[in-house]
Amino acid sequence: MVPGAGLEPARPFGQRLLRPPRLPFRHPGNLSIGRGVPVHDARRILPRRFPQHRRATEQPPGSVRRVRVFEVVVHRLRMDLVHELATSQGRHARRPVVLVEVTTDRGSGWGECAALAEPTYTSEYADGAEAVIIEHLAPRLLDAEDEWDGTTGGMGLLSGVRGHQMAKAALEMAVLDAQLRSSDQSLAAFLGATADVVTAGATVSSGPPGAVVAEVAEVVEAGFGRVKCKITPGQDVDTIREVRASFPDLFLCVDANGAYDLTSPTHRRAISELDDLGLVAIEQPLAPEDIAGHAALTASLATPVVLDESVCDLAQLDGVLARRACDGVSIKPARLGGVLAARRAHDRCLAAGVHLVAGGMLETGLGRAAALAVAALPGFDLPGDLGPSNRYFEPELTDPHLLVDGMLAVPDAAGVGREPDRDLVDALRVRTTWIEPSQSRSGEPSGAA
Ligand SMILES: [Mg+2]
Repeated sequence: MVPGAGLEPARPFGQRLLRPPRLPFRHPGNLSIGRGVPVHDARRILPRRFPQHRRATEQPPGSVRRVRVFEVVVHRLRMDLVHELATSQGRHARRPVVLVEVTTDRGSGWGECAALAEPTYTSEYADGAEAVIIEHLAPRLLDAEDEWDGTTGGMGLLSGVRGHQMAKAALEMAVLDAQLRSSDQSLAAFLGATADVVTAGATVSSGPPGAVVAEVAEVVEAGFGRVKCKITPGQDVDTIREVRASFPDLFLCVDANGAYDLTSPTHRRAISELDDLGLVAIEQPLAPEDIAGHAALTASLATPVVLDESVCDLAQLDGVLARRACDGVSIKPARLGGVLAARRAHDRCLAAGVHLVAGGMLETGLGRAAALAVAALPGFDLPGDLGPSNRYFEPELTDPHLLVDGMLAVPDAAGVGREPDRDLVDALRVRTTWIEPSQSRSGEPSGAA
């Protein structure tokens, strides 16, 4: 159906705005937009890029030594978030962390699984990811005839298992960490990153106007130059209008996590009204499967439409680009199946001419380090979600990622660039499982460790 049919929104759907041509790419680290820049200026220098879909030219990552994996250890930790994050899909208060530690013929490495407690973001969740790593992925890695070569081909060892991108991403991170450490190379350098720092972003819970404005004020005061507000039907237009009135120059995005439905007149009206609030992006307004709906919104909204949950692998990315169903893509290594897939997605988006946003999960410092390495690739032109590691975790599992002048440093140490604190892993441990070639054994906490 035609979005907005039968309604009289403030600015009807289907009314295209004339936009200036796209300006030359500037890395987020050099973005001059943000606090202190009028909204109309921000919108003028962030024109929508119309996807011109063509097959992407993907650049290979750097090279690493091939490794053979001898043991996989899965550490299940329980961490509570410093404060809850409310989204349209529920409230996140705790973070069951699944860490993967691998031992190879060239040393050891760590990976983090970003799956959340419940399957409300994508179909993955921590218990399921932990199980699939232990029962299906680690055995395939350990029993493979081939060595892991550190390229997309390495992931071929796990391709017999469909889906489970976050679980695969955790294993890939751990093996790459070991490989890169053995060759004294940082993940950022391996991927081809070009930035030393990344503009930090803060994500604010959905809620009534007063509460959201107060939290936005806190993060602006803390130095964040970009704020993304979660929205949910009923807590959207009034709240965001109030935020915009209080912070007219703020680099402001909203994220609906797929909560809106174009068959609902109320939802259509809300989206139309949000479109007039000078937002830099509206992220995942409709259900992940509703590609046609996103294409309709992309064609009609002035605000760039960014997709997150709709793009869980490269095939889905090709599909949304071919159908011009977005103006931008949120790149999250975990959701896409690892940093190598994220790198390929980055290249394809760049070739297609859509905006790139570095997305974040509720990662500890380990997963955040990998996300920062990806965010430092040259194609990201909009500030993303990534914030300092202490925003959600206390104590922190790794050396912190600190907010300095609204920026985060890209780790440059060998490997992923962060390593979990062993004492904290022990203190937060729920259980540990060891997997070796052609056998497995598991045990409960400390005694079994
Ligand atoms: Mg999102």
